[in-house]
Amino acid sequence: MTSQTTAKSPTPDRIRRAPKVLLHDHLDGGLRPATVVDLARESGYPALPETDPDRLGRWFRQAADSGSLERYLETFSHTVGVMQTRAALVRVAAECAEDLAADGVVYAEVRYAPEQHLEGGLTLEEVVEAVNEGFREGERRAREAGHRIRVGALLTAMRHAARSLEIAELANRHRDLGVVGFDIAGAEAGYPPTRHLDAFEYLKRENNHFTIHAGEAFGLPSIWQALQWCGADRLGHGVRIIDDIQVHDDGTVKLGRLASYVRDKRIPLELCPSSNLQTGAASSYAEHPIGLLRRLHFRATVNTDNRLMSHTSMSQEFEHLVEAFGYTLDDLQWFSVNAMKSAFIPFDERLAMINDVIKPGYAELKSEWLFQ
Ligand SMILES: [Zn+2]
Repeated sequence: MTSQTTAKSPTPDRIRRAPKVLLHDHLDGGLRPATVVDLARESGYPALPETDPDRLGRWFRQAADSGSLERYLETFSHTVGVMQTRAALVRVAAECAEDLAADGVVYAEVRYAPEQHLEGGLTLEEVVEAVNEGFREGERRAREAGHRIRVGALLTAMRHAARSLEIAELANRHRDLGVVGFDIAGAEAGYPPTRHLDAFEYLKRENNHFTIHAGEAFGLPSIWQALQWCGADRLGHGVRIIDDIQVHDDGTVKLGRLASYVRDKRIPLELCPSSNLQTGAASSYAEHPIGLLRRLHFRATVNTDNRLMSHTSMSQEFEHLVEAFGYTLDDLQWFSVNAMKSAFIPFDERLAMINDVIKPGYAELKSEWLFQ
């Protein structure tokens, strides 16, 4: 692969300062390694593979890179294992908002599964309240450091479990109180989203929003079910929609019915390039379907998924794409506006973020380049 960067390519510093929007980020996949070590010590959690933050950070990355699902899942057993108290959840959420803001993210929807944080005796309500408190604290600290960020929570239900309706009701009770939507996550194969139809139907009756992890490892049937049976507003990953697109030798492209539907209806795809490389859903950044999906004007967005396990950030994801596809600030703005349009907050608030924050931010960076 040859690098696509040119004189017009944005520098890492400009990419970091560019206003970015993140729709797919897992709270238990984004802890600082030093925080994992602290929280394990404070709570007496005995199972960490390393207690030095640097070595632990490397361990997370190698385990996620190993290609072994068992080792990949082990990483989350440690992060979730140290997130079982109110204080731990507040700290992790606050640091998440702080880290994203320092990286130039101006709006984020961060997801977590409340049902995974009950081992220390918290109730589902207490988990949601602790995470919300942490996000507000992180937003406040970010403001003090000169960054502006707004963070909304998505409540995730685990697809192999049977609590999705309960979690959907929890999300609905906390809407307008920091929770902006609902998600289901976990192994796709064997656990189709249609197992959770009662949760999705409940949310639709409540005029609420949800996204579904679909089309990551498992292909088109999973995407089709998420959209046409469950009524998802967005697709978590959705990258396998590429299987319904034929690219001919002469460069012409033919979309199947499902890919056409996704593009025509502007269904947002929460694409996570680095995460896909680790799980084998793509073999390199240059070959990642995001290049084609962007060219074909799908509603593509760029996301981090698990910043700790993938050793990434929004800026890193953008840097990889600039390197692979020669993207300019215009492309990065396009992805950011796409993501903001697809957020679960009200339309007028999305529009204000686009017109008052995102567009002026990119305009300033572009003018810096002009007068260099
Ligand atoms: Zn995910």
